[in-house]
Amino acid sequence: MEFENLYKKNPVFPQRYIAPASLEKFLQENLSDYISLIGTSYLGKNIYKAHFGTGNVKVLAWSQMHGNESNATLAMLDMIEIFKEHPPLQDELFAQIQLDFVFMLNPDGSERWTRRNALDIDMNRDYIKESSKEFPLLKHLAMHGNYDYALNLHEQRTLFSTDGIHPATLSFLSPSENVDREVTETRKKSMAVIAKVAAVMQKLIPNQIARYNDEFYPTSTGDNFTRMGLPTILYEGGHFPDDYLRNGTRKNYTIALYYGLKAIAELKNSVEGWTEYFDLPENKEDHYDIIYRNVKLNTDFPCVLDIAVQYREIIREGDDEISFVPIVVEVGDCGRKKGWKEIECTGKSFKCDRKFPKLDAEADFEIV
Ligand SMILES: [Zn+2]
Repeated sequence: MEFENLYKKNPVFPQRYIAPASLEKFLQENLSDYISLIGTSYLGKNIYKAHFGTGNVKVLAWSQMHGNESNATLAMLDMIEIFKEHPPLQDELFAQIQLDFVFMLNPDGSERWTRRNALDIDMNRDYIKESSKEFPLLKHLAMHGNYDYALNLHEQRTLFSTDGIHPATLSFLSPSENVDREVTETRKKSMAVIAKVAAVMQKLIPNQIARYNDEFYPTSTGDNFTRMGLPTILYEGGHFPDDYLRNGTRKNYTIALYYGLKAIAELKNSVEGWTEYFDLPENKEDHYDIIYRNVKLNTDFPCVLDIAVQYREIIREGDDEISFVPIVVEVGDCGRKKGWKEIECTGKSFKCDRKFPKLDAEADFEIV
């Protein structure tokens, strides 16, 4: 039976939001033989690494260095659940590789569902300055752990499509190690892994796999890990049609995580097939969540415009799942963009306390 047909959610974590305390409880109750503490966050939360396997290819992976990107943590938890029910799959993989998985590198941001940590530092831009308390814990592991590969696991906003029509549900990147985006031997190793994973995922979610922009970021994690000779693979979980809680993304992220590790086990530092990486389409930033087309305002001159709305994700005090707040992000001519939801408003009227929609504010109008 193929891994993708065995997929199930980890029942302890049915939601997109993961409270750091519930993750810690799960790790202590279920993975006590595998975990070790690597340090604490600014607000004193524990950060754990789990070690699996005995193989001779060593992989370092981490999730939620951006707190509001839980999909990779969930993918790892789902994979653990699937392995629990199908031990031969786990045994086969972990005979070939060793995996060090850092769960939720940014627990303070994860608790508040923010990208940044408690001091508002973006950990993925902290390689040189090391301002945060948390990022140096990962950097230390990467520099001293003798790893063959690294998996930098993230999520992207709903803005991206693969082809102007389909959402980029999964995007991958072999980060550049210099401004010239030179294709080095280190990059070829990560490209070869991505090519293998993408080949599997294209069959499962055709046209929903893309390549992330490879512009060089001199302070970011993947670029610098690659520069120090550690092939690093960026995963970006993205939009799945009509699924803002990203359950479809979560399922495919889990499958892609498994096949990424399988590819690493099979390739064992070989660069075979790396050129196929460039067959993947590049992410296109061409979508908003909702576009209201041709809205006629109640102004004293004829004014017809488009209104683009993006959902802002928040965790409300006392809630155990995130909420979505619609925010006006563009008004005027949105002709070059598409909405995952398109609403044609010709012949309808704009109802609001104001005469016009306010940019960067909650979409508090009605169109009836
Ligand atoms: Zn991220």
